Amino acid sequence: MKPLQELVRPNIWALAPYSSARNEYAGREARVFLDANENPYNQPFNRYPDPLQLELKEALSKVKGVPAENIFLGNGSDEPIDLAYRCFCQPGIDNVVAIEPTYGMYKVCADINDTEYRPILLDEHYQITAEKLLAAVDEHTKIIWLCSPNNPTGNSLRREEIVKVIEGFEGIVIVDEAYSDFSAVTPLRSELSQYPNLIVLNTMSKAWGCAAIRLGMAFASKEIIAIYNKVKYPYNINQLTQKQALEALKDPYEVDNWVKILLQERGRMVDAFALLPICEKVYPTDANFFLAKMTDAQKIYDYLVDRGIIIRNRNRVQLCKDCLRITIGTKTENNELLAALRQY
Ligand code: PMP
Repeated sequence: MKPLQELVRPNIWALAPYSSARNEYAGREARVFLDANENPYNQPFNRYPDPLQLELKEALSKVKGVPAENIFLGNGSDEPIDLAYRCFCQPGIDNVVAIEPTYGMYKVCADINDTEYRPILLDEHYQITAEKLLAAVDEHTKIIWLCSPNNPTGNSLRREEIVKVIEGFEGIVIVDEAYSDFSAVTPLRSELSQYPNLIVLNTMSKAWGCAAIRLGMAFASKEIIAIYNKVKYPYNINQLTQKQALEALKDPYEVDNWVKILLQERGRMVDAFALLPICEKVYPTDANFFLAKMTDAQKIYDYLVDRGIIIRNRNRVQLCKDCLRITIGTKTENNELLAALRQY
C-alpha cells in the first residue's frame, strides 16, 4: 500500500476538522451543559447525540468481532461510499475501478464527485479475475470497488481473487459485504487487521431489518477511520437511530432466526422459479435475493406491477438482459408472487 498521505486528497489531509462542543470536554465528568446552544427543555431530544457514537460502536464491536476503533458509522452505507470519494479522490484527476454490474451508488457517487469510474465487466459466471481489474489501474486510481455477495447478481466473488486484488493494489480496496449475513462465506471484516488498504462495508438495512433507521458501517484501519471522521458531518448519526440500533443489537438471535427463515424461503423460491416455463435460468445466490433470466423480463415486470407486486427489473443492466431480481419476502408474499407468475 502507498503511504496513506499519498492516497488521501491533499486538502483533506490538511483539513482542520470542525470541533463540536461535545468533543472538547471529552473524558471528563460533566453535569451542566451550557456549551452547545441547545434548549434545556424537551428532553431527551434537546441534546446533540454523541458525534462518535461510542456506546453503539462498543455494542457493534461485540456482534461484528471488529474493535470499536476500527468502526465508522454512516447514514446508511451510502454515506461511507460517498465519503470514500470525498476523502481519497481529487475531482477531475483521480479514478476508481469497479466490477460491472454492481450496486449503482458507487458510480453515482463517482459522478457526483467528478471522478472517472472504470467499470470492468464480470464474466458469464459473474466472476472477475484480479488480473483483469488490476490491468485497469493507473497512477491516478485511488479505489477498487468490490461487492460480495454482489448486487444484482447475488453471488459471492471468489475469495482468492479478492485477496489478490487487495494484495496487488497500492490504493484502497473497498469490499461491500452488505449481504454477507446471508452467506456461508467467512466475512472479510474478520481479516481486516491483515490488510491496511481494506475497507469493508456493512449495513443494518438487510439481515438486521433496520433499513428505515439508516445505519451503515465501514470497517478499516484506525488511520482510515480517522480520515473518515474528519470529513463526516459532526452529528451524522441521529439520536433516534443510535437508540434503535442499540435496541436491535440486544437480540442478534432474532436476526439469526430471520436469516434462517429467509434462506429456507430462498431455496424454495429458487426451486419454484426453475420450474416456471417463463424462467430460463436462476443464478446462484448468497444473498436475500436472486436473479432470474426470464423469457421477457419487461413484460413480466409490467404484468406483476399491474397486480401490485413489485420486483426489480434488471433488463437494462449489462450482462442482465431479461433478468429480474427478486427479494425474498415472507412466505405469504413469496407465494403471491409465485401464484401470479404461474398464471402468466
Ligand atoms: N451496498 C449494497 C451492495 C446494497 O445493495 C445496498 C442497498 N441496496 C447498499 C449498500 C446500501 O445500503 P444502506 O441502506 O446501508 O445505505
